Amino acid sequence: MKTYRIACIPGDGIGQEVVPAGQAVLEALAASQSAFRFVFTPFDWGGDYYRRHGRMMPVDGLEQLRGQDAILFGSAGDPDIADHITLWGLRLKICQGFDQYANVRPTRILPGIDGPLKRCPPGALDWVIVRENSEGEYAGVGGRVHQGQPIEAATDVSVMTRAGVLRIMRFAFRLAQSRPRKLLTVVTKSNAQRHAMVMWDEIAQEVSREFPDVRWDKELVDACTARMVNRPASLDTLVATNLHADILSDLAAALAGSLGIAPTGNIDPERRYPSMFEPIHGSAFDIMGQGLANPVGTFWSCVMLLEHLGEAAAAARLMAAIESVTADPALHTRDLGGQARTADVTRAVCARVAAPQPVPQPA
Ligand code: ATP
Repeated sequence: MKTYRIACIPGDGIGQEVVPAGQAVLEALAASQSAFRFVFTPFDWGGDYYRRHGRMMPVDGLEQLRGQDAILFGSAGDPDIADHITLWGLRLKICQGFDQYANVRPTRILPGIDGPLKRCPPGALDWVIVRENSEGEYAGVGGRVHQGQPIEAATDVSVMTRAGVLRIMRFAFRLAQSRPRKLLTVVTKSNAQRHAMVMWDEIAQEVSREFPDVRWDKELVDACTARMVNRPASLDTLVATNLHADILSDLAAALAGSLGIAPTGNIDPERRYPSMFEPIHGSAFDIMGQGLANPVGTFWSCVMLLEHLGEAAAAARLMAAIESVTADPALHTRDLGGQARTADVTRAVCARVAAPQPVPQPA
């Protein structure tokens, strides 16, 4: 029997509710078969750790994670600690330290979910957004001078490297190639940003020659928002810079019904380091500790984790269980207009992975 070592970092806010829920679902899945098992290691890093130690994670945190097969992450954010400290001190430290340069964000309208796109026929919204996750606008390059003075100045410099763009383009074309429609949209802003984004476009063109069977087009990021709303079926796989994809994927999550459903994987495609899986929502302090958090985004992230580990059958089984639960309005949490609690949804998914159900068909 294979053993997978999974690091669990619930972090802050509702991360402390949804990560244990994800762990419970993975345990139920492991218990229902004999091919693999999980060993979970918890890490109490985040806002409370910062209050005790003055940092979000220990100095040797990356060393502690290095031997793990994957990381299940909740969220980092604290009302009393500046956002740039919580973000750069934990999540980005792991993403950058482990060179998880491909951030993958699937979006679909799951069965039973009422999205805002009323004219969207079933199946019309089925996207994967690939976000460049290691440089660009979030490279961390910049500074402030003359703080507090009238002449104060500040810069955030976007850095794009040929190597960085090449590898994310190759990843995106490969992913598009693996999906039935073999369709990629390269999101850009080269009309206004005439240096790095022009290089981005040129490299997309170069890489496209390696993938003659992938149809691809270019879309300006502003036009892309309208296209996502008006012509969702014209999109399949998208690749965008760190900032652009950050924004587009929140839009995608909202169009799919709720931020609480959307998953993501921070992937090191070369598998030198553990990859990290997390719901895309944040700490949601407005609902923390009340059992209201929708755990589906975390469960779907667990599906991505299983796929990354090569457990495709188990991943499909968990996804079918999730879809059978979303199809039942009695199991919708408050963000979806229902009254179910985190624990109800978790119990239902655990029960369904133990006794697989047929995947519901859209009406
Ligand atoms: P952060 O600063 O950590 O990103 P935030 O509060 O700005 O946090 P989110 O945590 O993503 O942003 O929450 C935005 C809104 O969506 C909040 O009102 C929150 O309650 C709701 N929300 C987010 N995730 C969930 C979830 N899993 N279940 C239910 N509601 C959610």
